[in-house]
Amino acid sequence: MKVPLLDLKAQYAAIREEILRVTEEVYESQYFILGPRVEALEKQIADYTKTTHAVGISSGTDALLVSLMAAGIGAEDRVITSSYSFFATAGCIARLGAYPVFADIDPDTYNISADCIEATIDSMTPMQLQKLKAIVPVHLFGQCADMDPILEIARRYGLAVVEDAAQAIGAEYRGLRAGSIGQMGCFSFFPSKNLGAFGDGGMVTTNSDPLYEELRILRSHGAAPKYHHRRIGGNFRLDALQAAVVSIKLKYLDKWTEGRQKNAATYRKMFEDAKINNYITLPVEKEQRHIYNQFVISVAERRDELKAFLRDAGIGTEVYYPVPLHLQQCFSYLGYEKGDFPAAEHAAAHSLALPIYPELTRDQQQYVVSKIRQFYS
Ligand SMILES: *Cc1c(COP(=O)(O)O)cnc(C)c1O
Repeated sequence: MKVPLLDLKAQYAAIREEILRVTEEVYESQYFILGPRVEALEKQIADYTKTTHAVGISSGTDALLVSLMAAGIGAEDRVITSSYSFFATAGCIARLGAYPVFADIDPDTYNISADCIEATIDSMTPMQLQKLKAIVPVHLFGQCADMDPILEIARRYGLAVVEDAAQAIGAEYRGLRAGSIGQMGCFSFFPSKNLGAFGDGGMVTTNSDPLYEELRILRSHGAAPKYHHRRIGGNFRLDALQAAVVSIKLKYLDKWTEGRQKNAATYRKMFEDAKINNYITLPVEKEQRHIYNQFVISVAERRDELKAFLRDAGIGTEVYYPVPLHLQQCFSYLGYEKGDFPAAEHAAAHSLALPIYPELTRDQQQYVVSKIRQFYS
């Protein structure tokens, strides 16, 4: 049996006619960048995330970059973020000449925690603390970070909070939607995200009128009006084609999310019956609603061997992420060492993402669980 990590062809088959119709309309209009399709999607995403504004952006990475620019982050500033995330989270901070300052994660959720942020702040010199401007919490794998105590720290130190919600569209924290909790929320429409485009795309959400204006200006080279550049922005514009595709897909997102949640529940039941909890730990669901962009198990021993065994059995898995950010080669100038963030390092060595996409069948899930069981027996 074949069980890919993600099967986008199954999803496409279900919405093919609608997608072809709307993309044809875009071709006929010959209106490719921003414009009514992007504006319509911005309105839809603002509604969906329960925010007042959304700004269509060229990618999730650019959403982070432009948000940090809008927050005024620049040379020598310090920005706290998770040591366990996709590279872009920290890369964008560094690209602005600022310093990523890492914090460890809650080992249960893989998310940055207020306790870890406090520990990081305690380790900063008064000079560094003076330059501390923002926190970028990441809602990893589709579950929100525990935001209330993080917001409390942000208030105490006067910091902006930019949520990296690239993996968490529709996730909730105490009734609030991801992207509506901090000053800005960053989303990605990379095809492997729960709401994926047919290429790169992203969005920034905010409840702030001034930040909304700033984001729109920065998105088009900082010009307001055209050819009069108030700030140095960039080309962070979203394509009409991507917006049209994402608009169609958004109608199905809740149904797909329910499919992922159902699959997560099915895995839990199947793993319980398989009695291999000495070897693997299932993801901990602390916040409602977890949207399961990934279903990440923690494997006590021989993780890489298990991954190879599953690959040979036709099962796709992935390690998100094998190297924590503080140990990435490009950040060696920051001076971090192995052992600095034990929970992130443990996660990098033991995590394994299993297929969880909505169209996954019960038989496929049973096959995944039985193969993992076979490996340990
Ligand atoms: C995907 C992702 C990004 C970047 O999004 P792109 O659209 O690929 O640029 C940033 N942060 C996290 C946590 C992500 O998963």
